[in-house]
Amino acid sequence: MLNKKILKSILNVKHTAIDGMEILPDGSFAVMAHPTKGEQCRCGKCGRKAPYYDQGRGRRSWRTCDWNNHKVYIVADAPRVCCPEHGVVTAAVPWARHGSRFTREFEALATWLAMTCSKTAVAALLRISWNTVGPIISRMRSELDPNPAARLKNLSRIGVDETSYKKGHKYITVVIDHDTGKVVWAHEGHGKSVFTKFFRLLTKEQLANIKLVSGDGAKWIQECIDQSCPQAKRCIDPFHVVQWANEALDEVRRAAWRDAQKQAKDSPKRKRGRPRKDAPRKDTTAKDLKGSRFALGKAPEHLTDKQQAQLTFIAKSDKRLYRAYLLKEKLRLVFQCADVSTAKAELDGWIKWAQHCRIKVFVELQRKIRRHLEATNRKIQLSVYMAYGFRNIDNLIDMIMLRCSDIDVRLPWNYEAA
Ligand SMILES: [Zn+2]
Repeated sequence: MLNKKILKSILNVKHTAIDGMEILPDGSFAVMAHPTKGEQCRCGKCGRKAPYYDQGRGRRSWRTCDWNNHKVYIVADAPRVCCPEHGVVTAAVPWARHGSRFTREFEALATWLAMTCSKTAVAALLRISWNTVGPIISRMRSELDPNPAARLKNLSRIGVDETSYKKGHKYITVVIDHDTGKVVWAHEGHGKSVFTKFFRLLTKEQLANIKLVSGDGAKWIQECIDQSCPQAKRCIDPFHVVQWANEALDEVRRAAWRDAQKQAKDSPKRKRGRPRKDAPRKDTTAKDLKGSRFALGKAPEHLTDKQQAQLTFIAKSDKRLYRAYLLKEKLRLVFQCADVSTAKAELDGWIKWAQHCRIKVFVELQRKIRRHLEATNRKIQLSVYMAYGFRNIDNLIDMIMLRCSDIDVRLPWNYEAA
């Protein structure tokens, strides 16, 4: 009745021999199995061959992915071995990670779902308690992220952020690589001692490579920078925000120039010969606007007299373009604020102004800035929110790393392709 080959294929297990199958009274399936000879008697921690010790606590079952709403278990003996390094431990099984009562496939699915859906959805869909999701996530992370130190290479622009959870009673410090937008490090606690821990992980060369550190108003950030990488600049503009503002301003200027050109074309042609004294002067707005690019882009203290005159002309002739110029200038000043908390307040003010400025590119710019400033933070906050149920802070940190770092979390059937 039973085709073991097909069964093995459905379970998607390797180095496993199928012994039989039965349907349990509650409608779930139990597949009896054992590791093939080469995979028997291996240490659960290091995977090396080790001598048999005893039969442990007898048979054990591992939950695997459902078959059309039926729960499925792999049932096998769980003997113990005596590893020269790890002592007496339960022997490894090829279908599950050490210490888990779920198969690798099930854990991959649970992790992907935990990244994507709500806590309640994961627990309901998989019919497991949320408490078991935390350890699953930690096991997945240690497997998918064997070398976290690699993430600390080539850091140049980083941001540090403190996130509170448990209603502000506990904190997690998170370090972000601004060039990739990914979290590179997360640790329990906050303040100087924790951030110093991060810098201790970096080599001298890696410290020397750091050019910029962004973070909120806390004073200890500057202290850590002074101690560990004094060459680095501290700021809250990691995203070339001012450059974006200049681009937006240039777009407004070009639009204004096109309008002025069109207007000049549409205005009645002058007759040949010397114009009469009372004739309207030629409209040179387009020409003036075309030459104003540098005046608009420059900081006002560096303007030449001619450029200053151009600016005064724009202030009179094109209110909209002038407003765009002021928006750009204000934003530039926000990011020159020496005091970070003032800068934050100024930035909030700027965002409100830009929201209502009626210049499309600046309304968009304002959205873009807000998105970038919030994106990573929001993702972490969401992780924290979702992970509220985790009893263990390491599970929470692993969750943040899986969600927000460069770790590639896939559905179980997509791991095969890698
Ligand atoms: Zn071992």
